[in-house]
Amino acid sequence: MKSGGLLTTLPDRVVDAIRSAIGSGPSVLHEPTFSGNEWLYLKECLDSTFVSSVGKFVDRFEDDLARFTGVKHAVAVVNGTAALHIALKLAGVKADDEVMIPALTFVATANAVTYCGATPHLVDSEVRTLGIDADKLRDYLREHTEQRAGQCVNRATGRVIRAVIPMHTFGHPVDLDGLLAAAHDYNIAVVEDAAESLGSYYHGRHTGTFGLMGTLSFNGNKTITTGGGGAILTDDAALARHAKHLTTTAKLPHAWEYRHDEIGYNYRLPNLNAALGCAQLEQLPALLASKRKLFERYQAAFAPVVGVRMVAEPEACRSNYWLQTLLLAAGQESQRDLVLKATNAAGFMTRPAWVLMHELAHFKDCPCMDLAVAESLSRRLINLPSSAGLAPVAL
Ligand SMILES: *Cc1c(COP(=O)(O)O)cnc(C)c1O
Repeated sequence: MKSGGLLTTLPDRVVDAIRSAIGSGPSVLHEPTFSGNEWLYLKECLDSTFVSSVGKFVDRFEDDLARFTGVKHAVAVVNGTAALHIALKLAGVKADDEVMIPALTFVATANAVTYCGATPHLVDSEVRTLGIDADKLRDYLREHTEQRAGQCVNRATGRVIRAVIPMHTFGHPVDLDGLLAAAHDYNIAVVEDAAESLGSYYHGRHTGTFGLMGTLSFNGNKTITTGGGGAILTDDAALARHAKHLTTTAKLPHAWEYRHDEIGYNYRLPNLNAALGCAQLEQLPALLASKRKLFERYQAAFAPVVGVRMVAEPEACRSNYWLQTLLLAAGQESQRDLVLKATNAAGFMTRPAWVLMHELAHFKDCPCMDLAVAESLSRRLINLPSSAGLAPVAL
């Protein structure tokens, strides 16, 4: 192993630090762990023939999710994007509305807005949380919007800003106090994109439970997986009922008649996927402990490396450490691709943050504020191998 001395390059020092944290690899970015009742529950599904839209695991998964997150109702759906689509629709987002989202997010956040016929309006991030900068958002709303009949109207476009979607980046909770206050003061609904933050807490309360609704994802690369899947979280019984109705083709209950009372969606989570989810949720405390242990190993390994630091959970928050994240110091942007190249060549799968939403051709004309921090972060963030299996913990 090379020394951490000044004569080695930053990419070499990053490779050495990763190796000292997780061994010699090779390591993918994120792979699931199936060490509990996954086989058992899946077999039960197959044996019962209830693999699709009917079966007991969907109800159980919803109950288990509600209990784990401390929310009154969870509605399981086919993926996290569908969860966001329906949550936005139920928050009243309509054609020609605008929805404020971070520029630094996975494309699903922006896509879900467009599925409602609305336009994403891009917001800057803060370095501390990687998520929406609530103070900057408040200043921006003061400058650029006015209240008309209790609605927040974008003065430049004349469109209503109906909702804001805080996203808890890589599992780190955003400044929810600041954000909820600003949204409240400007009459904007809050729908949390908690796709990345199952097991993350803001001031002791689970993320995704603060807004009108929150959404989760159980894609294969998330903290727990159902193969593909998602959920809508809410404390509002009527919203939960409507979410269930909309995601199951809006069919009226009847012994034999197929009658639907609005345009619905086939967004239901199959029983087979829910069975996997029930088993995964039982493992979640151990997976979270592993991810924390992995963070501590990276943190120790990178402490002596000048020019980079690990992104740690914000104060008074508990992150799930879904994706372990290295942040290059300001001024080190030119090192990013060299670090990506060296680490991937060494067998450690690392990835840059997403291309920012306004840098995608189809979103380039979206309204946006100054995005200087998001732009800087996106050139400096690198996700490291993050699988729970890299630091196993048995609870
Ligand atoms: C994963 C993810 C989603 C939802 O993704 P699906 O693959 O549709 O489950 C939404 N937003 C963010 C930020 C995500 O990371």
